[in-house]
Amino acid sequence: MDRDQRRQLHSALLVAAPWLAATELGPQAVDAGRCDACDERPRLLPTCGTAGAAALCRDCAFAAGDDGWCSGHRDDGREARRWAAALPDRWADIVLLWWIATGEVRVSSADQIAREGLPVDVLALLPPP
Ligand SMILES: [Zn+2]
Ligand SMILES: [Zn+2]
Repeated sequence: MDRDQRRQLHSALLVAAPWLAATELGPQAVDAGRCDACDERPRLLPTCGTAGAAALCRDCAFAAGDDGWCSGHRDDGREARRWAAALPDRWADIVLLWWIATGEVRVSSADQIAREGLPVDVLALLPPP
């Protein structure tokens, strides 16, 4: 994918998944990469809890609960988890695609993503598997 194709993917993702536009939560708020707790799913929420994790995936943020945030940020943490709870089931794939679009993650990472069920406008822009 060249720069232009990545830009197109970026736009298509914002239309298909407007929640990506958030800058204090979601993939724009954390360093691209896997969750600090499970090292499996993508990072989604910045955290500041006593456990020392910097960013967690949705499941791990739910599992951490209030402990994922310091006492001064408990309310922010609850709001972050509410926000995350409303995301579609494919959130992890969409986050990975977002980082591909921004150039933070290699295009080849798209090979791990099941194509079925992705928004058609997004699917059309992905390189063939
Ligand atoms: Zn996790
Ligand atoms: Zn805090």
